[in-house]
Amino acid sequence: MSDLVIAAPKQHTIPTADGGAFPVRRVYCIGRNFADHAIEMGHDPNREAPFFFQKNPDNLDPSGQFPYPPHSQNVHHEVELLIALKSGGTDISVSSALDHVWGYGVALDMTRRDLQGEAKKAGRPWEIGKAVERSAPIGPVHPASTIGHIDAGRIAVSVNGVVKQDGDLNQMIWKVPEMISYLSEYFELAAGDVILGGTPAGVGPVERGDTMLASIEGLGEISVTVV
Ligand code: MN
Repeated sequence: MSDLVIAAPKQHTIPTADGGAFPVRRVYCIGRNFADHAIEMGHDPNREAPFFFQKNPDNLDPSGQFPYPPHSQNVHHEVELLIALKSGGTDISVSSALDHVWGYGVALDMTRRDLQGEAKKAGRPWEIGKAVERSAPIGPVHPASTIGHIDAGRIAVSVNGVVKQDGDLNQMIWKVPEMISYLSEYFELAAGDVILGGTPAGVGPVERGDTMLASIEGLGEISVTVV
């Protein structure tokens, strides 16, 4: 085995509700997974094949602070269900998909909407709008072994006390097992992979100084200040 020529990058981990640390390998995010959000973004809400983009593992941030990113005047909140995998594979069946889930949490998919919009218009990738430093504020991951699996319940975010997004996970067009199964047809999933499950209607801008309160029934709430 050859010596490393630079120091190995640190394995990024996120906290779990039982006091542990979950090591993150990849982050997949599903787009337009709630019909009302697809409509507000100008798209057909019918059940088309799902699509995914990625964030970087170290974009997941439990600090409770979100630094307003540069080169944007329109940064949006998107509250999402976080799904953390303990195992993976390819061509995973829908019926066995939940066997691969370690746990669930609350996440925000913070988005430079203006840059994402320009990328869409130009047919370019979305990373410049999505895979931004600390762009996924998160809460602790709750183990499915204690809380069970999650497929319904209120998902909401308020900004400075005003409710902005207020949906139910039962509105997800692609359910958790379907997302895992579909992804596994295109990618080899593995322990440490994280999926963000899409967002309900009501996305909108935040400013420095705002406080977002994001919650999912059964997973608690996270308070994140824009700095
Ligand atoms: Mn999203």
